[in-house]
Amino acid sequence: MSEDRPAPSRKPPLQSLATRVILVVFLATFLTAGVVTWLAVRSTYSFLRDDLDDRLPAEASALAGQLSPALASTEKALQALAADPALTASPETGADLLETTLRAQGDPGAADLDALALVARDGRVLAAAGAPHRTRALALLPWQTDSPLAALRMPDGGDDLAAWTVSLPGETGPLLRGALAVPTSLLAARSDPDPGLRARIVDPAGRARWVLLGESDPGPDRVVPPSAAVGVYRGAEGQFLVGAAVPLDVADLRLVVERPFRSAFSPVFSMLTRVFLADLCIVLFFSFLAYRLTAAIVRPIEDLSDGARRISVGELDVEVPEPPGHDEVALLTRTFNDMTRKLRRQRSEIHTAAVALRERNEDLQRANEVLEQLSITDGLTKLHNHRYFQDSLTREIKRVTRNREPLSVLLIDIDDFKRLNDRLGHASGDELLIGLARILNDATRESDLAARYGGEEFVVLAADTDLEGAVALAEKIRMSVQEASFILDDSMQLTKMTVSIGVAQYAGNRKTFFTAADQALYRAKAEGKNCVLSAEPEPGTGTVDAGTGTRDPEPADGPETEAT
Ligand code: GH3
Ligand code: MG
Ligand code: MG
Repeated sequence: MSEDRPAPSRKPPLQSLATRVILVVFLATFLTAGVVTWLAVRSTYSFLRDDLDDRLPAEASALAGQLSPALASTEKALQALAADPALTASPETGADLLETTLRAQGDPGAADLDALALVARDGRVLAAAGAPHRTRALALLPWQTDSPLAALRMPDGGDDLAAWTVSLPGETGPLLRGALAVPTSLLAARSDPDPGLRARIVDPAGRARWVLLGESDPGPDRVVPPSAAVGVYRGAEGQFLVGAAVPLDVADLRLVVERPFRSAFSPVFSMLTRVFLADLCIVLFFSFLAYRLTAAIVRPIEDLSDGARRISVGELDVEVPEPPGHDEVALLTRTFNDMTRKLRRQRSEIHTAAVALRERNEDLQRANEVLEQLSITDGLTKLHNHRYFQDSLTREIKRVTRNREPLSVLLIDIDDFKRLNDRLGHASGDELLIGLARILNDATRESDLAARYGGEEFVVLAADTDLEGAVALAEKIRMSVQEASFILDDSMQLTKMTVSIGVAQYAGNRKTFFTAADQALYRAKAEGKNCVLSAEPEPGTGTVDAGTGTRDPEPADGPETEAT
């Protein structure tokens, strides 16, 4: 049954509507932001990559196109020098030849030779021309080399140069080396100077022989992009590079133009950072909005649910805080509060009605009791009435039949009451009846029943009393009446009266029981009044015989009245 179900309590956090809504909004904005970020990053990357795909090979081809003739003419010039016998004829002629050659530099398309040196295999400079520190640097280059081109570090910190080496004929002949400067026209011609751009010439093994642009000491094992097409590859230090390589058409050398991946795509990274921050703000903002919105919806619903739960356990004193506005939740809350107010009012009305009903019931019960009492009470004497006596007699007879206890009855009649009435008036007669009732009350026990039988006749039903005891009780009553003086209100006179009493004991028959008492009374009247006479029940028959009686030694000769 639904009313036996325990009142619902608050939901665990994950089942809560608020948590679900916030979670959904968070995921939706997070996914949207993620997709937008991915698209933005991807298009920026493509844009940059397209640009690099165009620019790096063009840059490399342009440089190579200008470098190749210069390097070729340098090689050619050095080979022509090496073939000249004057070079090795004597140190002086060699030096003169070198000096002359150096001065003749400057032809268009020719590499700029800054120094020339003829170096013996033991490192001695046999002939030289140009600045001495450059010719020394040329002599210090390693003898063994796979490529005619080698980087030449200038100890004075000046511009790095390269050396081009040509072997003189013969197994052990000296080497002729020329110090080369990059033709400045080559680099200056670049329209878009890019600080991240590197250009280097590599030998067939991939080693950098001469760095034209970028860091001056790239290390020996730089990796080379596979072809003229732009590729992304990992450099010797592990960092990613993006670059293109083109052949130089001289001594199997290639020109590489490249950029570190990070700097090439730095807009992607910076955009990623910015978009991530923007996404974070958006996600947080919408999550916060969702939180506020669900709080605005769910909190009143939780309040309502709490209120409903309290009502379900009988607490009607509930007032749910009403949210502002006129939306559905506000309307529901107002309706709920109206409903609880109505319930409270109805409960209070029911309570008031119940209290009134209870009071009415109590009044009715009291009235019933009074009525009940009135119905069994004699209005004048306040003794029990005839009807109650009959009921009690029935009850007592049943009881004594069961218990075999004795039961006796006293029938009391005022002597010459008619005369008293006539003399004193009916009202005074009533007062005498009340006086007699008082005497009967005083004389009898709690278990006895004194009742007004009718008119000026009274009856006492003496429980657990045999005939002897009943006669004694009757005598006590008779004496009390005889000795009493009744003050009458009207006349303020002291009035005396006497009674005659017939006594009988129950012997198994209700009718004869009462008749016996009546007959005894009759005889008492006949024998002069103011006396007690009893009827002895005949054993086994239940009939009555005239029995013992008591009488005042001075028989009353009628009621007497004395003035007070
Ligand atoms: P006896 O000694 O033989 O009994 O004579 P009595 O005059 O008492 O005779 P009886 O018993 O016949 O008289 C009853 C009288 O009691 C009649 C009536 O006037 C009077 N009486 C009956 N009921 C009432 C009552 O309620 N009030 C008053 N004041 N008198 C009553
Ligand atoms: Mg009478
Ligand atoms: Mg009488």
